[in-house]
Amino acid sequence: MSGRLTVLSGPSGVGKGSVIAAVRRRHPQVWLSVSVTTRQPRPGEQDGVEYHFVDQAEFDRMVEAGELLEHATYAGNAYGTPKKPVLDKIAAGVPALLEIELHGARQVKAAMTEAHLVFLAPPSFEELARRLTGRGTEDRTRVRSRLDLARIELAAESEFEAVIVNDDVERAADALVALLNVQA
Ligand code: 5GP
Repeated sequence: MSGRLTVLSGPSGVGKGSVIAAVRRRHPQVWLSVSVTTRQPRPGEQDGVEYHFVDQAEFDRMVEAGELLEHATYAGNAYGTPKKPVLDKIAAGVPALLEIELHGARQVKAAMTEAHLVFLAPPSFEELARRLTGRGTEDRTRVRSRLDLARIELAAESEFEAVIVNDDVERAADALVALLNVQA
C-alpha cells in the first residue's frame, strides 16, 4: 500500500512545528519532508535538519531541473519541496508530511490529487499575533509582513479538506494523527 501524503498548512506562528513535533514523538515513522530555502538560518537551525539552506542560484537550478514538487516565495524568501524523497517515501508505504504555505499546498494538490490538505488554524487572529510577536524570531517589520500574509492564508481555510484549531498542541496532534493514517 502506498503511504498517504498529508500537507499541513497554516499561517506563520500558528504552531505547525510544535504540532508536528508532538506527532513525531508518538509516531516516529511519520516522515517529514525537509524543504530547501533561501532564508537565512535562525539561531539553532541546522542545515539538512530544519531546512536545506541554499542560495538563490542553487534554488533556481533546482526549479529549472524540475527537482521541486512545489515552490513559492514567502516574505521575501524562496521555499520548495524536493520531489524525489516525497515520491520515494510514498512508494515505500511511509506516511509523508509536508509543512508548507498556501501556494505550495495548492501546487501539491494540483500535481497529486491524492494529497490530503490540512489547515492548522489559530483560535483567533489576536492569538496568532501574540504568538508570532512572542516567538521573538522576527523583527517588527517581518512580523507585520507575516501577519499580512496570515490574513490571506486564513481566508483560504475553506480550500482545505480538514481544519484543526490549534488551541492545545497535544489535542491538535491527536487530530492530525487521526488524519495521517498511521498504523499504531
Ligand atoms: P519559516 O521561515 O517560518 O520557516 O517558514 C515560512 C513559511 O514557509 C511557513 O508557512 C512554512 O510552512 C513555509 N514553508 C516551509 N517550507 C516550505 C516549502 O518547501 N514550500 C512552501 N511552499 N512553503 C514552505
